[in-house]
Amino acid sequence: MKIVAASSNKNKILEIKDKFSSISELEIIPLSEYGNIPEIIEDGDTFLENAIKKAKVIRDYTGEITIADDSGLVVDFLNGEPGVYSARYGGKNLTDIDRYNLILEKMGDVEFDKRTARFICAIVIAFPNGKIITAEEKCEGIIAYKPGGTMGFGYDPIFYLPELKSTMAEISLSEKNKISHRGKALESAYKLFLDEV
Ligand code: IMP
Repeated sequence: MKIVAASSNKNKILEIKDKFSSISELEIIPLSEYGNIPEIIEDGDTFLENAIKKAKVIRDYTGEITIADDSGLVVDFLNGEPGVYSARYGGKNLTDIDRYNLILEKMGDVEFDKRTARFICAIVIAFPNGKIITAEEKCEGIIAYKPGGTMGFGYDPIFYLPELKSTMAEISLSEKNKISHRGKALESAYKLFLDEV
């Protein structure tokens, strides 16, 4: 059985492979193996809408079972920003560091209790017969006062996990996968997938 991963992000593809590896005859195919991929405009109001759109467009294009995800950071004090704009927050040409510094700047020295935030991830699996599986999970944390750690990517250095007394960029990838929005959403989607096949 083949599943196309509607992503060109190597880390995400590795995570999907890792989660689905117990199905022995399963092959995860990166989107990069296909040419002329249709452009997908992520214009949904929610992570789930965007993931459904990506999964359906690539399923229709490849004719194969397709897995897609959409994720981002939601900060309460910023009324939910950056949300679905996480990847392009502050403008197209900014680096990940510029983007998290922008959040730190906007948060200023707001007290700890008001710095609540969460990462959210929606995973969608679209089947050629029209069936759709959806899973959405979150990971709660606090926006730190300053960045810490060098692991991970994106907003990880400013995402503080009080229970671990570390930022998301200070824990190993295997630790992150156990508690992260994406790790948990992949786990939920995997269970639903096993019921389906
Ligand atoms: P997308 O899901 O590839 O559209 O990207 C979502 C954006 O949200 C990424 O570019 C990151 O900025 C942010 N993001 C999503 N998941 C994580 C995470 O696990 N750590 C840090 N940032 C993340």
